[in-house]
Order: sequence, then C-alpha cells, then structure tokens
Amino acid sequence: MRHFAIATAFLCVCSALLVAQSGPNDARAREIFKELIEINTTDTPNGNVTKAAEAVAARLKVAGFPAADMQVLGPDPRKGNLVARLRGTGAKRPVLLLAHLDVVEAKREDWSIDPFTLIEKEGFFYGRGTSDDKSMASQLVANVIRLKEEGWKGERDLILALTADEEGGTFNGVDWLVKNHRQLVDAEFAINEGGGGSMRNGKYLTNEIQASEKVFQDFRLEVTNSGGHSSLPVKDNAIYHLAEGLAKLAKFDFPVEMNEVTRGYFQRSADVQSDPKVAADMRAVARPSPDLAAAARLSASLPYYNAQMRTTCIATRLNGGHANNALPQMASANVNCRVLPGVSPAAVKDKLVEVLADPKIKVTSVGEATPSKPSPLRPDVMGVVESLTKQMFPGVIVVPVMSTGATDGLYLRNGEIPTYGVDGTFGDVEDVRAHGRDERVGVKQFYEGLEFQYRLIKELSK
Ligand SMILES: [Zn+2]
Repeated sequence: MRHFAIATAFLCVCSALLVAQSGPNDARAREIFKELIEINTTDTPNGNVTKAAEAVAARLKVAGFPAADMQVLGPDPRKGNLVARLRGTGAKRPVLLLAHLDVVEAKREDWSIDPFTLIEKEGFFYGRGTSDDKSMASQLVANVIRLKEEGWKGERDLILALTADEEGGTFNGVDWLVKNHRQLVDAEFAINEGGGGSMRNGKYLTNEIQASEKVFQDFRLEVTNSGGHSSLPVKDNAIYHLAEGLAKLAKFDFPVEMNEVTRGYFQRSADVQSDPKVAADMRAVARPSPDLAAAARLSASLPYYNAQMRTTCIATRLNGGHANNALPQMASANVNCRVLPGVSPAAVKDKLVEVLADPKIKVTSVGEATPSKPSPLRPDVMGVVESLTKQMFPGVIVVPVMSTGATDGLYLRNGEIPTYGVDGTFGDVEDVRAHGRDERVGVKQFYEGLEFQYRLIKELSK
C-alpha cells in the first residue's frame, strides 16, 4: 500500500514543475499501464498474476531482452512472478526494482466505472491498481525498455521483479524469490513502493522515501471462569476482569523511542511547518534525547505523529459470554500492536502482562510477527532522490518515513537487501483511493513519476 496521510499540516513552498516530457516513453508506459490494468490480478478465481507477468515478458522479448535474462516463475500456476535483468558492467552489485502485480478485489457494482478497464478522464487514470501498484510496475517496465533501447550500461545490473500476492494470498512472490531463487534477485539495495509524493489541492508538498516499517503483531487476551447462573452473581466475573484490564491498557502509552528514520522525518518536516510551535516540537523530539513534553503535544495533535514515535497496542475486537442469563465463562479481546522495528514482540507481550496487571488475563501471541529491519539512510540513495526532487519538483522536501503498515520491503529487508520506497508519483493526501472504489492516479503525475523514476534508476545504476 502507498504511504500517505502525513502532510496534513505542511506549508507549501513549491513552484511550478519543470519536467522534460519524453513522448515515446509516455506512450509506451500508457500502453503497458492499460494492458496491466485490464488483466485481472486479484486473489480470486477470476484473477491471474501469471498472465500479467507473461504480458510483460512478451514486451521485454520484443525489446530485445535475451531469454536467459528473464523468466516467469512461481510456486503456483496463477501466481507467477516476472524477473528480468538489464545487464550493466558488473563493476558494482545490482539494484533490484520491485513492484507487485496483484491488486485488491474490486467489484463492478461498487464502482462507478469498470475497475478492469483503464479509463482516462478529467486528468486522471481510473482503474484497479492505478495507484497501487500497477502505475509503478508499468513505469518500471517502460523505463527498462527505454534504457535497453538507449543501450544503457551502468555499473550495476538492473533487476526488475514484478510479483504476486503482496495484497494477500498465500504465495507472496518476494518471499518466495528470496527464499528459493536468491541469486535472481540478489542486490545491494532495492527500490519499492511505500514512498511517493504528497500533494494537496494540486500543491506538491513532500517526496517520501520509505526506509522502515513497523511490525504487525496481534495478541489475544482471554479470561475464563467456571460461570454459573446470573441470578447468583459473584464478583469474580470474566467480563469485569477483561474490562478492567482493557481500561488500564487504554491509559497506557509505550515509551517514546526514536530511530534514524523517524528523527529524519521530524527534522525535515519541521522545516516546512506553517505553525512555529509545531516546528519547534518536531525539532525537540528529533534531538538525541527527545523532549517528552514536545512528544506528548505532537502525539495528541495527530495519530500519525504518535505512531511514528512509539510502539502502539490497541483493542480491536471483543468477545464474551454465551447467554443473557448466564455468568460469562469466557471473555476475550484482540489487541493489535504495531511494534517499532528493533523492539521484540516478546518484550511487548511482557509489557502488556505488566500493564494489565491481572493474572486472570491470559495473554498469547496470535501468529508470529515477521521482524523488519530498518534500512540505513544510504547517502548515495538519499542524495540522488534529493537532487532529482530538487530538479523536477523545486521546493518539495524529501522526507524519510517509517510506514505504520507493511509492504513487501519486509521480506527484502529481512533478507539483508536494504529497501527504499520511492516513486516520484504525487498523490493527493485527501484523495487516497488505493484498495477503495474508483481508484485513480493523476495523468500528469503518472508521467512525471515515469520520468523521475527513469532518472532515478539511471543515476543509481551508474
Ligand atoms: Zn501496494
């Protein structure tokens, strides 16, 4: 999923865009985009990711990619992943260019238009996947074909991986490739979704580079009791135990803990804040020892700021009792935690037990969290993103971000391939339609993103 929602209080200092249009590549990207949008790649009986991967392979073949440098492979006939390589001199290790081909289900009756037909109207491309993530996939395909045509030979190979089951399903392509075909995707670092440009009312605000993700972990809280007739109540009641525990959890906050990415986020965001008090608070939390009063003010002002500074755990489901006239024999809740990278889920569990402070509430982990290692803010990658952003979008600041949700970057980061979410395609912070109805991307923004990405991968593979 794309990362949004943070630029809610930014002051815009941007001027007009200076984008050199590259006609033939625009037309090519649009054609690929149309083809990919119109192949249903949902995780449903109607969906087939392999078809999309093969459509791309056919285009690469026409563009002159040798058969030995591309393949469609996967653990399931409908979940094929495309991996292709544009060879450089090999002086440096490759860069991996990743996008997912699968999309979230979209029903015709929920949309005002057909979700599986690319429609261009009033300055937007509409269709399932136009923002998540077939825009990026099409841009990557068009750009590697352009580079191939231009005879580009960088020091690094460019590896293109277009994969299955990022949005769900049981055959996550990146996980499978890293585990089974490491040599095909092995790279010094990777470019992925998860970042991108934020704008509001047409004004460009920030270009985000996602370098880190929080870790998802559910816990089940359960109280059991022998129960009995509700006409003869006793004080030892499963629902009361659980409710009191949850009330304590509601008042609890995990401690503020900053890392390289979140410090960078607040530091840079401070520079474009319209409110000087908020700017001062942002600088105060970015210091080596964060100012806790400033952290408390920021947390209260925006859930996003709070989520950047600490692990969060929140009750999301509640269940209990079995009859209106019976004492409850069981009461349970699901608590969903988003754990800061580097904090162990076991430590979070211990903390929950301590906060609930009731031995009757049994706490168990639901599933096992996949840890996610933050990627270091490499000066070469950051430097290129900064200078291209300055060139193409004057006045826009580059902000490192930690996603509060997860992307496929998780599998690469855990496979020791640092991963950066960046794409240069701007979307309105108040018009996020990924996974929703009438998903869309701006036509102008799509072509700008195409050109930004072209320059980015060329610079990075130089
Ligand atoms: Zn996505």
